[in-house]
Amino acid sequence: MDEVEQVAKMHTTRVGVLGGGQLGQMLALAAQRLGVPVTILDPAGMDSPAGRVSGRAVCGSFTDPAKIAELAALVDVITVEIEHVDAEALARVGASCDVKIHPSPATIALIQDKLLQKQHLLKAAAARQESIPMGDFCETADVEAVLSAGERWGYPLMLKARKGAYDGRGNAVVASASDASSAFSSLSAGGVVQLYAERWCPFSKELAVMVVRDVHGRTAAYPTVETVQRDSMCHTVVAPANVSAAMRAEAMRVASAAIATMEGAGIFGVELFAMPDGAVLLNEIAPRPHNSGHYTMDACHVSQFENHLRAVVQLPLGSCEMKVGAAAMLNVIGAADGTIEATLQPIARAIRLREASVHWYGKSPPKPKRKMGHINVTGSDGKRVAQLLEALEGSSDPAAR
Ligand code: ATP
Ligand code: MG
Ligand code: MG
Repeated sequence: MDEVEQVAKMHTTRVGVLGGGQLGQMLALAAQRLGVPVTILDPAGMDSPAGRVSGRAVCGSFTDPAKIAELAALVDVITVEIEHVDAEALARVGASCDVKIHPSPATIALIQDKLLQKQHLLKAAAARQESIPMGDFCETADVEAVLSAGERWGYPLMLKARKGAYDGRGNAVVASASDASSAFSSLSAGGVVQLYAERWCPFSKELAVMVVRDVHGRTAAYPTVETVQRDSMCHTVVAPANVSAAMRAEAMRVASAAIATMEGAGIFGVELFAMPDGAVLLNEIAPRPHNSGHYTMDACHVSQFENHLRAVVQLPLGSCEMKVGAAAMLNVIGAADGTIEATLQPIARAIRLREASVHWYGKSPPKPKRKMGHINVTGSDGKRVAQLLEALEGSSDPAAR
């Protein structure tokens, strides 16, 4: 196929997205620039953050098989902005309708279950004779299994829901053997939630790598970034990560090796732990654009959102390189008091800053802990970007330095 035929897919391939939040919105913004028609499936339809940008929406739940089928009839490719969708329904739609699904429903199902995800990575790494290092983990069907994990690894340990988790909701730290029973019952309320345990990772930093995979299985990785979580929620991202070049390269290797084992095209966020001994351990994978990749919108030649679209529409992948020396991102989270005034504080500080780009998702009203927007800053080096980040957080005046 010649290049012209290939780029024509930009406006002839209709894309459907399950989920209408901010990730879908930024995907729709990237699509608009390329002329890719996007339809959103979300309960708020055209009134969702993504629906307001795409201008096309199906109103309904992205876990409702009938609604997924309705979307499938309107588009050529279906993708997701959230992994907690009905993967079985997606697989059925993929088998019965003339629609492609990226990443594949099998990949979404695998990643949805954190225990299956880790078991798959262990097996795939062994089969490929590659190393995808992870901390120890085990299935815990009952409290006795948690206690025996504690005897093997010591405390604290992390108990996690296998499915449905986000922003740390679904995780519980088990500080000692006497905590095991209450942690187990707090997470498995109703007895229907399956849990597993992870050995505590005393990481020195948290890292992330965005990896994009095309339909032929070729991958390209964005630089390794450092992420800082507050209350288990992404707070800031610094790109590139301030760790050794060897560690940055190892994180990119591990992330790319993990995504090479998955089926289907698209962008993936790979979360990792930088260990004090220099090792890099994989924490978890998201089969979609990721908060740790928002900096790419202003700091890279091609953003994570455009590269996701390029992958699912089958255009050539774009460059993942940074076009500036360094960058950082600050999430704008709904303030604890729920007021718009308190929530807008970081934006008020950013709006006059030459190096800052403000992204506001237009969700209303702000709710405590809700992701309302983010701010990217770019600079020539990590030192300047660290100053700008401090200024955004209200802890210094960048002009005074
Ligand atoms: P996300 O919003 O990224 O999907 P999540 O709810 O899936 O988050 P995890 O990524 O499993 O949760 O964990 C949230 C945070 O808890 C991690 O970013 C890390 O700070 C901490 N954490 C997770 N696993 C461990 C571990 N085994 N040891 C120590 N800390 C951990
Ligand atoms: Mg997660
Ligand atoms: Mg996580």
